[in-house]
Amino acid sequence: MSNIPELFGSLVFDDSVMHNRLPKDIYKALKKTISQGTHLELDVANVVATAMKDWALEKGATHFTHWFQPMTGITAEKHDSFISPQGDGKIIMEFSGKELVRGEPDASSFPSGGLRATFEARGYTAWDPTSPAFIKDGTLCIPTAFCSYTGEALDKKTPLLRSMQAIDKQALRILRLFGNTEAKRVSTTVGPEQEYFLISKDMYLKRPDLVYTGRTLFGARPPKGQELDDHYFGALKPAVSAFMRELDEELWKLGILSKTKHNEVAPAQHELAPIFSTTNIAADHNQLTMELMKKVADRHGLTCLLHEKPFAGINGSGKHNNWSISTDTGTNLLEPGDTPFDNAQFLLFLVAIIKAVDDYQDLLRISVASAGNDHRLGANEAPPAVVSIFLGEELNDILTAIDEGTAYVGHAHIQMEIGATVLPHFPKDTTDRNRTSPFAFTGNKFEFRMLGSTVSIAEPNIVLNTAVAEVLSQFADELTGSPDFIGDVAKIVKRTIGAHKRIIFNGNGYDDSWIADAEARGLSNLKNTPEALGAFITAKNVALFTKNGVYTEKELTSRHEIFLENYSKTINIEALTMIDLVSKEVVPSVIAYENELATLLLHKSKVGGYDNSLEDSLLAKVSKLSSSLARKLDELEAETVAVRGIEDSAELAAAYRERVFSAMNELRAVVDELELTVASKYWSLPTYGEILYSVI
Ligand code: ADP
Ligand code: MG
Repeated sequence: MSNIPELFGSLVFDDSVMHNRLPKDIYKALKKTISQGTHLELDVANVVATAMKDWALEKGATHFTHWFQPMTGITAEKHDSFISPQGDGKIIMEFSGKELVRGEPDASSFPSGGLRATFEARGYTAWDPTSPAFIKDGTLCIPTAFCSYTGEALDKKTPLLRSMQAIDKQALRILRLFGNTEAKRVSTTVGPEQEYFLISKDMYLKRPDLVYTGRTLFGARPPKGQELDDHYFGALKPAVSAFMRELDEELWKLGILSKTKHNEVAPAQHELAPIFSTTNIAADHNQLTMELMKKVADRHGLTCLLHEKPFAGINGSGKHNNWSISTDTGTNLLEPGDTPFDNAQFLLFLVAIIKAVDDYQDLLRISVASAGNDHRLGANEAPPAVVSIFLGEELNDILTAIDEGTAYVGHAHIQMEIGATVLPHFPKDTTDRNRTSPFAFTGNKFEFRMLGSTVSIAEPNIVLNTAVAEVLSQFADELTGSPDFIGDVAKIVKRTIGAHKRIIFNGNGYDDSWIADAEARGLSNLKNTPEALGAFITAKNVALFTKNGVYTEKELTSRHEIFLENYSKTINIEALTMIDLVSKEVVPSVIAYENELATLLLHKSKVGGYDNSLEDSLLAKVSKLSSSLARKLDELEAETVAVRGIEDSAELAAAYRERVFSAMNELRAVVDELELTVASKYWSLPTYGEILYSVI
């Protein structure tokens, strides 16, 4: 392997490249745009574009693209070459400032939820200079936001950037009230831990359900699953190790701080964690990471599965969104400080987050809702669908002491007087690992654990940033001009704990009794996507987003429409794939086996005098199952046709859940039983055992 520090970021037009290649005044102007969001003049953009192009050509690039994140959930790119004809049959390589800052992809085919009327189908992409350009597959990629001509966001980056602005503004107001005059910008930071499965590509290609839907629609449990816990942190297999090594190198070249890799609990499951960065860069990097996982796997004869639940009965994959708030001067605002004053500030931010999570539990739940994640949340392998906060024993005791006005009897035996006493430090490794909590404080950050493995981290971070910004703005309004600042901070902290302690839960989230307890506390439990999505456009949530400038009402209703459509389309594709597979693979396998048994019985009866009991009972069992199979297949077909008549998109999504998805589960149960009964040589689909243990 080559020199890693040299390799790192070698395909990124980062700060050091800009510093080396741009004239001083241009560099300064660009830096100002990046750090303060100021407008970039076209003459500056022209110089930057030329420098970018020259750099990209030296690295072997021939094309450029505006790289964006439409509502499909994945990234989009349209490549243009740098060539420009000169009229004499010759060309030069050119890239203008105009091409850098703005693009006009023909965007009519991206989901818009009705935002883009057909007469105005164009959209445009606008450069996000806060996320550095990079080279991928010989193309200079320029991270961009994607909007309609009338300025509505059609992507995930635009609202994410708006939400970062909202929290920047409100957090700065709070810091100023605490006398901080130095910080110029407050940003949220994210380190997303990414889970995935690796299987052999041969097996993948033999499972059309994996190819079309990303998950297996059938499959009986293998004799050995994850019960021995022998995979977690186990030694890496050579093929996996080679994959991970190459993936790391590819990620490092793109400046992605890939740090940790290990085997997960389920067989064939792994995890990658980067070092955290600013949220919009973390979101871009996570998209690139997922894309590269797939590409690199392919080069190794493997397939990377990013679906939340590729295999029933085996742990699914999630993503942990480690989130914190920092100033540009390097202070993590979720780190308890060394002075009483710092700690009053820490407690104020902490209770703001507690209130935000409680007030907007429904939105946090929605931000991770998808057909795929419905298989995980509440299924005893991932947090429940109920949102709650885990604080750890020590911090919880402190908040309880504040709430009750009693002495805190932790290590310090102190009366908790906000602004008068210093909080104890919480060493990171003693915050016990409550893995069942959806939203856990881990010493100096929160870990939001409800994300599915495929979701763009933009979604949950838009909600988190905006909800916290909103509460901070309420606090700032209240504290501005206060004659007794620390006294009022103490009042807000105490009042907020009292009003929102219902969201704090330090017990086992997988325990059935928690669900009943949560209901008694009045917490929402939105069990699946169609049930959850309605809350996206309630008056309370529309007010949150519009007031903080993150979404307009029109943008919200269109997104709501897209989420519903996505859900219905996903289930429809799964149902059609299932019908196809049962008809073309399962039924022929079953008939072939029945035929063998029946033929043998016929022969035996002709000869006479033999014991037929084994064949007889097998044939009886298979024919009974095959008649259920026929019935369940008919039912599923009928339901997929019946729901098509429903026009309202919320009703349609609910029908897909209640009717089509249920019919799929019933059909699956029969198929899985048949798999255990029919002879292997007739079963054409690779089994779970064959797929999960396919990588050696
Ligand atoms: P775990 O035990 O869950 O793996 P780690 O402390 O190793 O916990 O961190 C997990 C993730 O949290 C990493 O991606 C790390 O970079 C990220 N992280 C650490 N500090 C912060 C922070 N201040 N903001 C956001 N993410 C952070
Ligand atoms: Mg974690």
